[in-house]
Amino acid sequence: MKGVLGGSLFARSLGSLFSRHPKLDEDLLDEVETALISADMGVPATTEVVERLRKRMKAREFADAGALLRALRNDLLAMLRPVAKPLEIDPAAKPFVILTVGVNGVGKTTTIGKLARRFQNEGHTLMLAAGDTFRAAAVAQLQAWGQRNGVPVIAQGQDADPASVAYDGLQQARARGVDVLIADTAGRLHTQQGLMAELGKIRRVLGKLEERAPHEVLMVIDGTTGQNALNQLRQFHAAVRVTGLVVTKLDGTAKGGVVFALAREFGLPIRFIGLGEKPEDLRVFDPEGFVDALLP
Ligand code: GDP
Repeated sequence: MKGVLGGSLFARSLGSLFSRHPKLDEDLLDEVETALISADMGVPATTEVVERLRKRMKAREFADAGALLRALRNDLLAMLRPVAKPLEIDPAAKPFVILTVGVNGVGKTTTIGKLARRFQNEGHTLMLAAGDTFRAAAVAQLQAWGQRNGVPVIAQGQDADPASVAYDGLQQARARGVDVLIADTAGRLHTQQGLMAELGKIRRVLGKLEERAPHEVLMVIDGTTGQNALNQLRQFHAAVRVTGLVVTKLDGTAKGGVVFALAREFGLPIRFIGLGEKPEDLRVFDPEGFVDALLP
């Protein structure tokens, strides 16, 4: 597999910098900077990392280029460790309500299927609420998935009020004593304000039925969309208070650096990363594995 595990997450492998630039000098720092920028880490995060290294290089803290690259690895790890917080299902919340948000095409529906499978394997009972009522295919996709996997899917058809679907889902999940309810939402971007108002309403409606619901607002982000991902998160966070992230499509991309930019700007937990389309390709976010793939 390419991408995170194949070590091609950065367009220009940081690990190979050492062989190309064995000398500890400004050229090495330039190479590091280019690699981070081309991996879509973004200018603010890249500048911070490079400036820290430059200061330490000038203070003669590094014996050689290898020492600088080891410091870079530690720096990158330090950026990601605080956001590596797995999603924990609170058994006292019955159901534990996960509201999934994100723009169309990021892999939201696929991720819901993968998550449901994961929770099932962990022994939880599941229910899904097909709240992406704007897109008939999304409802059908969830229903088909539910049928294949023996998971009930609450739906009210196309153009139904998504808040009503979520409410219905929570009521039924409660009545049946289900452990986890995953509610889907629409992700159309062209009516931004309407979408944000709709998400706010879903949140309020769930909260009326169960004070602490949703227990998790999980935003799915396409890891290949670079700095655009930051804009999306800014908007959704303002509308619906995101509590966790899933970054998808990190397989076969050289743009995984966006994970650092997300961590730096928001500090929100990264719950999972998506490395492909199969259920097992949704992985708990592991900073060591992620950074080691960058610095083989
Ligand atoms: P939604 O519109 O956000 O619900 O997006 P979908 O779940 O329909 O996914 C859009 C496309 O992205 C589909 O072709 C998925 O198979 C694909 N996809 C989702 N997650 C991943 C991932 O981690 N890696 C890759 N390569 N493709 C993914």
